[in-house]
Amino acid sequence: MQEKIARLIECEGMIRRCQAELIRLIADLNIDKHAPVDIALALQLSPTNAAYLAEWASHVVKVFPNVVEAMEAGVISEWSAHGLVDPTDGYSEELAQKVVAKTLESAEGRCCQQIRRSVQGRLQRADPAEHARRREKRRRDRTVVLYDLEDGMAALKCEQPVEIAKMMYAKIDRLARKEAKNGRSMDAVRADVLASLVLEEPRSAGSKALIQVTVPITALLGVDERPGQLDTGQLLPAHVVRDLMSHPGTVFHRLLTDPAGQLLEYNPGIYRPKAEVDRFIRTRHRTCVMPCCSHPSRSCDVDHAVAWPEGKTTGTNLGPLDRRHHRYKHATNAKVTITDDGTTTIETRWGQTYTTKPDPVDEPPF
Ligand SMILES: [Zn+2]
Repeated sequence: MQEKIARLIECEGMIRRCQAELIRLIADLNIDKHAPVDIALALQLSPTNAAYLAEWASHVVKVFPNVVEAMEAGVISEWSAHGLVDPTDGYSEELAQKVVAKTLESAEGRCCQQIRRSVQGRLQRADPAEHARRREKRRRDRTVVLYDLEDGMAALKCEQPVEIAKMMYAKIDRLARKEAKNGRSMDAVRADVLASLVLEEPRSAGSKALIQVTVPITALLGVDERPGQLDTGQLLPAHVVRDLMSHPGTVFHRLLTDPAGQLLEYNPGIYRPKAEVDRFIRTRHRTCVMPCCSHPSRSCDVDHAVAWPEGKTTGTNLGPLDRRHHRYKHATNAKVTITDDGTTTIETRWGQTYTTKPDPVDEPPF
């Protein structure tokens, strides 16, 4: 197995090098408006896909040569290159280049979704006015769509600002957890709860939704416009956070961060009630501690990296693991260690070691 994992990593490295070359070749070939047709023929792509690819490759090679170099060096995949570049669309080229360069510094070992979120967060922090403008534009397009699925089913999709959608989901979920399942899956119970809420059955009365927002105290006071952040990482403009203050179901956490935005440690020498340590862990790690896992920590198990009583119940020795990764850890005897700043190292049964750091709770743009 060791050799196969090593070979797997080697193959991925070759693919990344080839993809970097492919992007450069497409950019070189994209000399006029007819070139996408040549590219489509060569790569068996639809004309629309080829035109998109040609435009994207030319843009990346011209504006973000460092992204192509990182692919060539095997540091990032083509997916991650999209995660770096695509969210910059519409922002100034100068800001985009600074943010992408800064995010590339920590791209190694992160998956494309984490990279995308990091770029989005940095752009939104660097240019809150543009973030607010985009949000407002998207907010105006909020909608409910009904579309048919197969086998006599249909889907009802609702697009809302993230804080509203989360409150809606939290309420549906809370009500669903109080219900007897009667052989239904949790998903089915939530679907039934939503249907009865919309169809006005009375059981919903008096229930409040709850969401968690992390916010710099300066923004709450109106001193600056630094954004707040939901527990799953999306940023909220400061004025939205101030509006939410009046909502009875919003829970605010005041956090102490270092200049890089990493959450600072509790003093482990002082007794803390379990719930507070638990809250710290879930706020420091917004997701499961396994590299590239995006499972929200609020529904993870908080695991002792070193089993109690050897490992103390303090912030440094604990980390959230989702059910799948928790099972994996125990079933394969993977070793997980977590240092004071939250850096997590996983040593697998096949001798591979992976290190990851929690995304900062208040990451500076660059
Ligand atoms: Zn996980």
